[in-house]
Amino acid sequence: MRRQLIAGNWKMNTNRASAAALAEGVAKAAASITDADLAVSPPSCYLETVGKALRGSRVALGAQNMYFEKDGAFTGELSAAMLVDLGCKYVILGHSERRHIFGEDDPLINKKVLAALAAGLAPIVCLGELLADREAGRTEQVVRTQFDGSLAGLTPEQICRVVIAYEPVWAIGTGRTATPQQAEEVHLILRRLLVDKYNGEAANRVIIQYGGSVKPDNAVELLGQPNIDGALVGGASLKVEPFLGIVAGRKR
Ligand code: PEP
Repeated sequence: MRRQLIAGNWKMNTNRASAAALAEGVAKAAASITDADLAVSPPSCYLETVGKALRGSRVALGAQNMYFEKDGAFTGELSAAMLVDLGCKYVILGHSERRHIFGEDDPLINKKVLAALAAGLAPIVCLGELLADREAGRTEQVVRTQFDGSLAGLTPEQICRVVIAYEPVWAIGTGRTATPQQAEEVHLILRRLLVDKYNGEAANRVIIQYGGSVKPDNAVELLGQPNIDGALVGGASLKVEPFLGIVAGRKR
């Protein structure tokens, strides 16, 4: 069985003190969890603080974004090497808020994915359809285009180091979750794309998370689906109890 990954995306929330306290709380509560991987992604200005709070724990550090260039005149940006330097294992790329608020497209996300992999980071690559796409029956077409574009040019070895997060945009931060069947259907499409584009072994190994209003009370059903290998969690990752409640809903 693939190892599940449950990752928190704190977005633009917390402050230095609350980020440290949340990280310490998650680290403590996760001490006995050995059958799944956990990660939290604080705002970049608190990566160092949170990294210190997580030191020696079972919880990995992730960033929420990065730029693909190695260094230079890119005001306001962070490179993959900087994230590695701060102790990050993961970086979230192509989150729907980056795509739809900041206008990131697949070619840009693809450059970031390749740069993250080259630096030794595990990119968590988000994709998912808008409500209008789902209502028009375009879900498969949209995720296929995002998959092809944001993961272009990866070798089978590289794809195995990528985490894919299927996040229907209409379910993010809305309290409206995809049903386990709706989510599993798309995860299966993604798994088949991995077979077609890479090979069966890669398809078997790649972790595909679900994200979109995951809460303790829907985690068991969502995470119980055969092709759902964990969750990317926004709102419910901002407190220890709901985040660990979701972790408790993992497949066993
Ligand atoms: C997210 O930001 O990736 C996310 C899934 O948010 P939420 O859990 O709040 O829907």
